[in-house]
Amino acid sequence: INKLAVLTSGGDSPGMNAAIRSVVRTCAYHNIKCIGVYQGYEGLITGDFKELDARSVRGIINKGGTMLKSARSKEFRTKEGRQKAYQSLMDAEVDGLVVIGGDGSFTGALIFNQEFGFPVMGIPGTIDNDIFGTSHTLGFDTALNTVVDAIDKIRDTASSHNRLFFIEVMGRDVGHIALNVGIAGGAEEILIPEEDLGLDRLVDSLNKSRKSGKTSSIVVVAEGDKIGKNIFELKDYVDENMEGYDVRVSVLGHMQRGGAPSCFDRVLASRMGVKAVEAILEGQSNYMVGLQNGKMELTPLDNAIKGKTKINLELLRVSDIMST
Ligand code: ATP
Repeated sequence: INKLAVLTSGGDSPGMNAAIRSVVRTCAYHNIKCIGVYQGYEGLITGDFKELDARSVRGIINKGGTMLKSARSKEFRTKEGRQKAYQSLMDAEVDGLVVIGGDGSFTGALIFNQEFGFPVMGIPGTIDNDIFGTSHTLGFDTALNTVVDAIDKIRDTASSHNRLFFIEVMGRDVGHIALNVGIAGGAEEILIPEEDLGLDRLVDSLNKSRKSGKTSSIVVVAEGDKIGKNIFELKDYVDENMEGYDVRVSVLGHMQRGGAPSCFDRVLASRMGVKAVEAILEGQSNYMVGLQNGKMELTPLDNAIKGKTKINLELLRVSDIMST
């Protein structure tokens, strides 16, 4: 192997830049060339490549987003698109590909490998932490810190005005962000996709805590919670069914995906980049690098895509006890 390519794909997450830097510098350390691919799989198809040396990734470890840009590529979902991508890689004499992204990006990488036998290695970059085979995806820790910061600020208003705030956080399919920030932000209740708390129990519990002397409350709601109402309908329902609170909604949105990566994410990204490049150099392919029990481990891409991450039941219990 003389030359590797690296790309970022799907939604961006803080730490992607630190991972690009690590891939590039690990290549330099092992005296192999590294190509940066712009716009994810789109750039693979069009040959939007740039050779990156160790110095070309200076000053990015502390930056959110991705210097290589990310994109969603319809064309890569077609055989013709992938054929073009393969040709671009052949023309540039690339021998292996590191894909930084989520499960969709890994599915594309796996199909590409199956069709052309091209070595691929995945680095999990998404704030949702919804990928099997790693306790933390890149960006998750930063997103948690960003959201807790936002909740703290909203709490100031909530407590000054006797308000009940419903705060929506990212998480269409998984409640990892909601559960963690809910505990850290002192939420009264946490609504996640994995559990249906039920509307009546929610109102009951809020009423109880109101009577016990609470003057303001925060409920953290994951986008994909199972309660069956969107956050504005939820607000209306609670408004109608309980007294004593001025009920408000705050949808945090894309600010959760941005910002400077935390120390944890920078270290994780650096470790993942080293592991990914060295695994390819050792002849491995079709794996994702991940953090398991404090160590860098490889998980077959297939398992990373299909495996389900589970919500931590102990955290659920802690959250219940804390809202007593
Ligand atoms: P996020 O966690 O932000 O959703 P992701 O990697 O899952 O990240 P997707 O939009 O699902 O994001 O996938 C990124 C890209 O991967 C797609 O735009 C497409 O180019 C490629 N891809 C996804 N699924 C497939 C597939 N089945 N076949 C080929 N390519 C795919």
